[in-house]
Amino acid sequence: MKQTYLGPLQDGGRVGIIGGGPGGVATAIALKQGARALGREAQVIIIEGKQFAGEQHHNQCVGVLSPPIADLVERDLKIPFPHSLSRSAITGYILHTAQREIILDGETEPSVALRRVQFDAYMLNAARDCGVEILPARVTAFEFHADRVVIYTENTPREVEVVVGAFGMDEGSGVLFENAVGYHPPLALNSVVTKYHPGDEGMITFGNRFGGC
Ligand SMILES: Cc1cc2nc3c(=O)[nH]c(=O)nc-3n(C[C@H](O)[C@H](O)[C@H](O)COP(=O)(O)OP(=O)(O)OC[C@H]3O[C@@H](n4cnc5c(N)ncnc54)[C@H](O)[C@@H]3O)c2cc1C
Repeated sequence: MKQTYLGPLQDGGRVGIIGGGPGGVATAIALKQGARALGREAQVIIIEGKQFAGEQHHNQCVGVLSPPIADLVERDLKIPFPHSLSRSAITGYILHTAQREIILDGETEPSVALRRVQFDAYMLNAARDCGVEILPARVTAFEFHADRVVIYTENTPREVEVVVGAFGMDEGSGVLFENAVGYHPPLALNSVVTKYHPGDEGMITFGNRFGGC
């Protein structure tokens, strides 16, 4: 187990993680397990605005998980990788350019294609099993005090000693953190996402490869 530095977090200290995607969940589980390894207890709460269970909401993602993600989940977070969610194995990539197709076949273990929303639901449940509280709500504001932070949501406000921003590229949350602590969102490219249904025949030409343009 890697040595965890808990900084000023005391035994029983409270941590509020904004966002229950892979970043927030991995942070929560590692924090819980790291604190226990040091003989301390951390009260960790993930506040996630979306409902992944029942696929009510989802985060954008194609759902291709490449090595070494399965190993990392099992070795570092000590939770089983959900191989049962896999819909197919991806053994390579095809890049489609205006002139030609470039095939990139991997020599390592294949990637796994799954429904990202199911993976998110699985990981949030795994965090719950590790003793993390999951609060289904959207964070709307913060109040920073010398000894604590008040997190406001659509439900009851929560008080914590440490706040972790794991909100991905959510622009509204970026502004909340910018106003509260001077956070600057990273430079990013805006992209247009579209769906293309190639039909059964088209899928056969892809084989087990993942295509991109
Ligand atoms: C179109 C697209 C396709 C992609 N395809 C792949 C792929 O095939 N394979 C791959 O490995 N990666 C893929 N990615 C990248 C992958 O989605 C990200 O790397 C990953 O989601 C980052 O995880 P995260 O936890 O940091 O952020 P996110 O997954 O974005 O999670 C952030 C969470 O925070 C929550 N949140 C935000 N603000 C608040 C708030 N104020 N209150 C409460 N909750 C809040 C959001 O609801 C969200 O669930 C893709 C990304 C995109 C956009």
